[in-house]
Amino acid sequence: MAVNLLDLDPEALTTYFAGLGEKTFRAKQVLRWLHHFGADDVGQMTDIARSLREKLAVEACIVAPPVVSDKTSHDGTRKFLFSVGSGNAIETVFIPEADRGTLCISSQAGCALDCAFCSTGKQGFNRNLTTAEIIGQLWQANKALGRDPKGDRIVSNVVMMGMGEPLTNFDNVVAALKLMLDDNAYGLSRRRVTVSTSGIVPAMDRLRDACPVALAVSLHAPNDALRDQLVPINKKYPLKELLAACTRYLEKAPRDFITFEYVMLDGVNDSDAHARQLVEIAAQVPCKYNLIPFNPFPAAHFKRSSADRIRRFADILMSAGIITTTRKTRGDDIDAACGQLAGQVKDKSRRVIRLQNAGNVTNREVTQ
Ligand code: SAH
Ligand code: SF4
Repeated sequence: MAVNLLDLDPEALTTYFAGLGEKTFRAKQVLRWLHHFGADDVGQMTDIARSLREKLAVEACIVAPPVVSDKTSHDGTRKFLFSVGSGNAIETVFIPEADRGTLCISSQAGCALDCAFCSTGKQGFNRNLTTAEIIGQLWQANKALGRDPKGDRIVSNVVMMGMGEPLTNFDNVVAALKLMLDDNAYGLSRRRVTVSTSGIVPAMDRLRDACPVALAVSLHAPNDALRDQLVPINKKYPLKELLAACTRYLEKAPRDFITFEYVMLDGVNDSDAHARQLVEIAAQVPCKYNLIPFNPFPAAHFKRSSADRIRRFADILMSAGIITTTRKTRGDDIDAACGQLAGQVKDKSRRVIRLQNAGNVTNREVTQ
């Protein structure tokens, strides 16, 4: 079967060309053609010897997931739906801001972790995305969005906050991250690439060693009793272990901090007492808090905390000297806000069937 060149990170591409009896610099040239210039055909790689191009045309291919739909919100947020085959589709969101353009990328078709407040989780899980499908989202978005008048790419930041838990698709995610950071590919700095995890402790250690990009941790509750309910993976990796892993992560990146994401759920995790518990957590790990007003989806059982409640909650954290931001809800008119991404997932975890049996179908798309 032909090798998909978008599946290869810089090291794998070097190994591939060595196997063809080619010099290392060929891999760098091809990397630039693929990711810097967005070539979709080896025929375009004009500084590569014709004999090699002919060989690649037979042995290799360049295949990114195709765009199925492309919608723009009234606030400029743009959502792409990509087909990844067998009836599965994933979503990628571009969020323009005054000083940056952030692309939110998916790592899996669905998610197996089933956090109580997440639309992706409610859809169940089909499979991990390949490296080509992960980096292909950035590759395609760059084609669609282009460059600014200065010649810089419109996408300046990447966050792995789309569908799926990136750290349970470790190898493919790390390969894609390496492409994002490589100067011959996307050349993004370590701090402009963020992985968001619900707290897969052993994989956090591995990420620190393999590719220590900025880390966001989905905290959502300040104690184990509540976190067990909201983020079920907490039963496996409870808070004490999670916070210790955060501290170890920062050893590799001492000037950094962890961003704790905290979804604001009315009457569930948003009291003054919860905020004070978060202050205690912040004393243990250099961090900032990012409060995310809950984004509803069909049949969600939660309500968003009121704006006043969120302000009061943030005030408690900020009065304790903790940097706290509240995420602006973007793109909710096209279901592109955090936690609303659904795509299409052929559930293999049988979650939908279990939910149906319980008389509790929580997502319109999976039942189609
Ligand atoms: N699986 C990873 C990354 C994807 S989710 C993780 O859980 O971190 C990206 C962020 O959106 C996470 O912090 C997630 O908890 C949050 N989120 C999920 N559902 C949400 C919802 N309905 N409203 C607001 N934020 C949500
Ligand atoms: Fe998966 Fe993250 Fe959603 Fe939890 S919040 S179900 S880990 S995508």
